[in-house]
Amino acid sequence: MELLRSKLFSQFPQIVFGMSTKNGGVSDPPYGLNLSIGVGDDPDNVRENRKRFFNALNIDGTRLAFPLQVHSSQVQDAHTPGRYINTDGLTTDKKEIYLIVSVADCLPVFLFDPIHNAIAGVHAGWKGTDQKITMKMIQLMNERWQTDPSEIIAFLGPAAGVCCYEVGEGVAELFSSEFKAPQSNGKYHLDIPAVNKEQLISAGVKIENIEHENFCTICSNDRFHSYRRDGNESGRMMGVIGLRG
Ligand SMILES: [Zn+2]
Repeated sequence: MELLRSKLFSQFPQIVFGMSTKNGGVSDPPYGLNLSIGVGDDPDNVRENRKRFFNALNIDGTRLAFPLQVHSSQVQDAHTPGRYINTDGLTTDKKEIYLIVSVADCLPVFLFDPIHNAIAGVHAGWKGTDQKITMKMIQLMNERWQTDPSEIIAFLGPAAGVCCYEVGEGVAELFSSEFKAPQSNGKYHLDIPAVNKEQLISAGVKIENIEHENFCTICSNDRFHSYRRDGNESGRMMGVIGLRG
């Protein structure tokens, strides 16, 4: 199974972190290592894929906190494992609660406050990014755990890149010109990871504390799932972060 790890998070032994790719699952093509139910894949295969993914990270599958993502900027804290409706970001300072972010083109953002031992996971598509979900999460961490942004370690995972992520004028006009490239067809290529990185920095996160796995999901060939590329037959990847008990 091919997993993405974080160089920055791996310096902290209490952190468990990993992101899946498309590789290493039991599902038939095009799904591969799909970790999401309800995207057209065989549920038994998804269960087996999840088991393999969480086993590879030595995570107890009953200790997961799932946000039921809706492309919002709603964030909340997770005191127990379970499903959290209408939310696109979870944070906790509890041990053995593993926060999930599920993606196929949207940007997964993971945060760690090593001073207060608090973690967060954020799902940032263009809507959440426009509504500054990453900054809202930092604000919530500050309220809940007294997190100082200058102490935060951040990881940005693979997402639709500026090389491929085409949007119309209506979406493009929400973002400042440094984050979009006009195309000859009148549309724009948008750089969602760069916007989130900028939001982290303006919230006070140090640039050297931001790790960015700058892979484009759309042109990754078969390394990552991409909804834009594969449409209704696209699987989903998961990133997970937790504090070991
Ligand atoms: Zn690309």
